[in-house]
Amino acid sequence: MDLIDDHQLQHERLEPCPGTLYIVGTPIGNLSDLSPRAKSILRNVSLIACEDTRRSGQLMKIIKSKVPLLSYHKHNFKSRQSQLLETLERKGSLALISDAGLPGINDPGQELVHAAKSNNYEVICIPGPCAATTALVISGLPSERFCFEGFLPKKQSIRKKRLEDISQEQRTTIIYESPHQLIKLLEDLSIACGKERPIQIARELTKRYEESIGKTIEEVLKYFIANKPKGEFTIVLGGKKKNNKHKNKTSESEALDKLSRLINQGERSNIAARKIAEETGYEKKWLYSQLHKRLDK
Ligand code: SAM
Repeated sequence: MDLIDDHQLQHERLEPCPGTLYIVGTPIGNLSDLSPRAKSILRNVSLIACEDTRRSGQLMKIIKSKVPLLSYHKHNFKSRQSQLLETLERKGSLALISDAGLPGINDPGQELVHAAKSNNYEVICIPGPCAATTALVISGLPSERFCFEGFLPKKQSIRKKRLEDISQEQRTTIIYESPHQLIKLLEDLSIACGKERPIQIARELTKRYEESIGKTIEEVLKYFIANKPKGEFTIVLGGKKKNNKHKNKTSESEALDKLSRLINQGERSNIAARKIAEETGYEKKWLYSQLHKRLDK
């Protein structure tokens, strides 16, 4: 790997370059995580677009940046776009930051990047902290392949479907959640994925009271019922295990008998199918379809 010295980079590329949009990562808690390159960009661009000018104003004060700030958030991103692109058109340089972390990851950014690229402006990322990847790499859960869900939808029907998808996902899944919704999310995950599913919850990453709480959904649920969730949380959920070990040990008709029994005992049919799929290794969808065929006979 070729590492470029910060000083060398400044001189070689003379950052910020005119007509360039910089997506700048800012700290998710610890101010020392703001890179020297990020500081330099934030002191030298023509304009900074940020979610909240008051909040980012505090950061600019600390790093002694006098660059004007313009609000750019989920309520005004469409109307602001042409104004921001004008800066690039005039050969100015533009930085986009969010309240914390990497813009574009559950924060405004993607539309502006798309618009800048569509108009042939250069877009460069000054990488910085991101709660999702920070939580993932300390989780101890598989990180070779993973998915990012951000915040789950609130609307019941969409949420239910999303939880169902997450429960079947074999890769590690990363979810964002606010403190007052955390217990509800854990309850929903427990129903969808089973209480034994591995999970790690990263709290207050990079901050003084940073901690990781695990190991199963059942354990973390108990923990947060006893300890009211406070601060910021990123949830890292282990993927569904490939379950081949019971295959061929339970016959098809035995698996269907187990499923019918569970439903007759009052379990909801999709939960019962998931449980029997996990226990026997048969696909949940297959169990469902076979059960219906049986009932239709
Ligand atoms: N763009 C940001 C990033 O790159 O991490 C994420 C912004 S999203 C609106 C905010 C959510 O990220 C929080 O509700 C929380 O789930 C997660 N988060 C942000 N900072 C965190 C921290 N210090 N510790 C744990 N999770 C954090």
